[in-house]
Amino acid sequence: MGVMSQRKLLLASIHDVSPRFESEVDDLVDLLRPHVGERIAMLVVPNHWGDAPIVRGSAFATRLRSWADAGIEIFLHGFYHRDDSRHGGASDRFRARVMTAGEGEFLGLSRLDASSRLAEGNALLEEVIGRPIDGFVAPAWLYGADALEALADARIPLAEDHFRVWSPLTGRELARGPVITWASRTKMRRASSLAAAAALRRLPLDVLRVGVHPPDIRHPALVRSIQKTLRIGASCRRAGRYSDLLTA
Ligand SMILES: [Zn+2]
Repeated sequence: MGVMSQRKLLLASIHDVSPRFESEVDDLVDLLRPHVGERIAMLVVPNHWGDAPIVRGSAFATRLRSWADAGIEIFLHGFYHRDDSRHGGASDRFRARVMTAGEGEFLGLSRLDASSRLAEGNALLEEVIGRPIDGFVAPAWLYGADALEALADARIPLAEDHFRVWSPLTGRELARGPVITWASRTKMRRASSLAAAAALRRLPLDVLRVGVHPPDIRHPALVRSIQKTLRIGASCRRAGRYSDLLTA
């Protein structure tokens, strides 16, 4: 019984942490904190769309470090977040365009390009937060085959996609089950993500993952759904950190 309750975790993450979205990130931290405290993973983009760089020594860099000091986990989340590569296969092209509105940065990268973005982003964040990063999540949770190989080489302890969490270091799968997330771009997408969240938060998953994005905060219906999802998720699980999965 003790073992079961150890395994039951609520994992909350904030995507697209960047100087571009600083005020939205503050609002999202305020939204999550009553439910999970500082047990939040921030998915940080080193240079969102190529024009919102995280600069060493900047005020935003100092904030990142204080979040990390407070116990918030810091994940590398792509480098530019934008998909600027040409996709080989028609199905990759379709996935990149339709599923992500061009945000699947790590879907079409060569192994070499993926490796260099991982190395550069990792070095920047490590220097800014003064400790190793906790993991990597590809933008839109989309990984091409070459990016997966680069990730395995990069000695990063944790990664996740839509359906699972794993360790690129060991290849071990650490958790299974869909991540609950909200789409805000259109009314129809908002409606379908509200319906999906309402269904998914009732699933008897040991590890319930909830991922929020900066634009979510501008839509009161999404905010209410996020709060309700966290409340239900926390009712039979403890708020945890991704790194708990490595020791569970
Ligand atoms: Zn993202």
